[in-house]
Amino acid sequence: MENEIYLDANATTPVLPAAAAQAQHTMRVLFGNPSSTHCTGLQAKDMMVNVRARAARLLGSADGRLLFVSGATEALQTSVLSALCAIRQRQQRGEWVGSLLLYGATEHKAVPESLAHWNRLLGLNLELRALPVDVDGQHDLGALRGLAAEAALVCTMAANNETGVVSDLAAIEAVLQLTASKAFWLVDCVQALGKLALNLAATRIDYAAFSGHKLYAPKGIGMLYVRAGAPLTPLMAGGGQEDGQRSGTENMAGVAALGAVLEALEDGHTFRTHAELIVFRDRLTQSLRNALPAIVFNAPFAKALPTTLNFSVPGFSSKELLDLFDAAGVRVSSGSACSAAKAAPSFVLEAMGLPAWQAASAIRMSFGPAADEHFIHQACERIKSCGAALRASGLSPSALPPMTTDGVVQFGADAASTWLLLDAASRSCVVIDPQLQLVPRLRSTIHHLHYRLLAVLGTSTNAVLAPARSLLVQEPGGQVNHGTSSCDGTGWPTSCVTATLADGSVVEALPFGGQLLARMALPDGHVYLLGKPLATQQLTAAAVRFAFSAGAVTGDRGMDHEPALQAHHAAPAWLRPLIHVVHPDTVLCPARDSVGALATTLQAEQAGTDDGLDRDVHLRSSTLNAFLAQHADALLVDVREPFEYLASPLPSWLGLETVNVPLSRLANQLGTWLRDKPRPLVFVCRSGNRSGRAASCLRRLGYAQAWHLAGGLALAVGTNTCGPYSE
Ligand code: PLP
Repeated sequence: MENEIYLDANATTPVLPAAAAQAQHTMRVLFGNPSSTHCTGLQAKDMMVNVRARAARLLGSADGRLLFVSGATEALQTSVLSALCAIRQRQQRGEWVGSLLLYGATEHKAVPESLAHWNRLLGLNLELRALPVDVDGQHDLGALRGLAAEAALVCTMAANNETGVVSDLAAIEAVLQLTASKAFWLVDCVQALGKLALNLAATRIDYAAFSGHKLYAPKGIGMLYVRAGAPLTPLMAGGGQEDGQRSGTENMAGVAALGAVLEALEDGHTFRTHAELIVFRDRLTQSLRNALPAIVFNAPFAKALPTTLNFSVPGFSSKELLDLFDAAGVRVSSGSACSAAKAAPSFVLEAMGLPAWQAASAIRMSFGPAADEHFIHQACERIKSCGAALRASGLSPSALPPMTTDGVVQFGADAASTWLLLDAASRSCVVIDPQLQLVPRLRSTIHHLHYRLLAVLGTSTNAVLAPARSLLVQEPGGQVNHGTSSCDGTGWPTSCVTATLADGSVVEALPFGGQLLARMALPDGHVYLLGKPLATQQLTAAAVRFAFSAGAVTGDRGMDHEPALQAHHAAPAWLRPLIHVVHPDTVLCPARDSVGALATTLQAEQAGTDDGLDRDVHLRSSTLNAFLAQHADALLVDVREPFEYLASPLPSWLGLETVNVPLSRLANQLGTWLRDKPRPLVFVCRSGNRSGRAASCLRRLGYAQAWHLAGGLALAVGTNTCGPYSE
């Protein structure tokens, strides 16, 4: 896509024009089967021989073998199979082989998974052991010294795909020599090709894996180096291609394209030098620091490839940063696998012993060695625009858009919710259930708004509030915010009033602008009710807009067979105290949200099962026009966060009325939608994930006319979707 800034080269790269041209030439002209003995076949074979010779020169494979394979996963597979078959033979001959299959703790999953697979299939029952890495991500050589003699196979990578950290292969080799290890040695060289000098035959390495698509060749082509004399067991048998070591007609277009890339590596004109790449990294780093002043880099530059940056930003999840970059047309990847409700931390960063928040919120930005001056300039400009969007939304370093000055805002982390209550009239706010990792973001939000923090409250007695509270009341300059009311041990202000709830009980309450925040005590915590009281300080059930409690929306209401509302005895425990004091449509804001439901209502919780909820919430972009023709009054609700919206506003889309209700503010809007005359709502976001959650949330609350655009703006046809400049 034109105008996208692709900074995810460690995942894959576009094909070099010269490589695409070679592939096409091979498919159309040099299309022969290299096994054929006629001229057409011989010409094809000659091309393959030349590419292999070039690769051998570049990698220094000397008299070792270089096989063309489908990619690194196959190369790794073949290596592991070959080594394990040889180990099994040694075992069968009664030779000592060691007991460990040792692999670096930060290896690509293809390595431990192949080890486990072939170990199981071959019935070897060797122990898989992860070799620890140090805080810089490099292998723990002391640990290797202790284990090398016991190892049957050692697997290490040349450079890490998430962090770019370069392994000290010479030091690893020295340990293997010193300990007289008999182990085979496999090195995953995927991220090293074209970025690090390799001279394979001069090392003790037995197997090395390469992948074409990480360096401007197409997917489906890779190479396997096997040291002269190292055992090789074919993964595939058949027509005997590759000297019988890898059967199957060769991927000639892939080989030709790889050849073009290798030629470019040899000619020295296409790719930048190491020193030039370092200058590029420095420029990107500076732009990132300017845009995200709190940024923390997760790997030491001195030990990493200059083409990979891995970073985290306090208070931001990797998903949020990814959304921000994507909205600005910058493609990066999250350093961790994310699901809707819970982010799985990066095992690579965890293995390096980085703090949990860094491992859970990392972003990887990577570029290829063909990057040029113009591209890096554009990338820096785009990063700058991300920073500007954050600042304009009040998010840098703060977290909320200027328009968010009133109502409730939900901050989520690890399937738990922190709630920020804002009152524009009194310019004050309350925080409920603050999670420590969200404190920097909450703090800068409150500071940005110049609101007075009235209270920091917890819904459960075991909430550890003190550290979060003391951090929250600190001004960014370090001084304590004296506007904060004095409070008791639970965070509740000492100067409060009383309110009468719908069940007649009289409870303590905190005036919050024109509203009251009433507190109901429970044996194991508190429920907080927010609403506008009558003149008599009565908070009727209908007046309660929000209820904050320690409960969890689990998706299992435990009362599927009970008639609604009569079944109070069967309601989940956390709902029972609420039944007589809130309205069926009061928005319930639970502290835990394991199913990503966002918020709920008493009515929804008591209504029955979720069956069929998601069945027809999805609209495809191909059927959207037809849908909208039938629903002319539909409202398009963009649930992206304001900083994304600012970085890439929604195009005026089919003339539809559009609003931006960020997912973090959805709870605030629910009451209005549930009360007002229903109209069709079509939620949209970048990928369809958040919009799907919003639509499901409304359906769950009984709002039938909620849909979302499946696949998100990213897949919508004819929209200016992925970035400000994309078509
Ligand atoms: N090893 C590393 C370090 C990688 O980054 C990758 C790709 O993500 C692989 C192995 C697998 O490569 P391929 O996609 O060619 O199978």
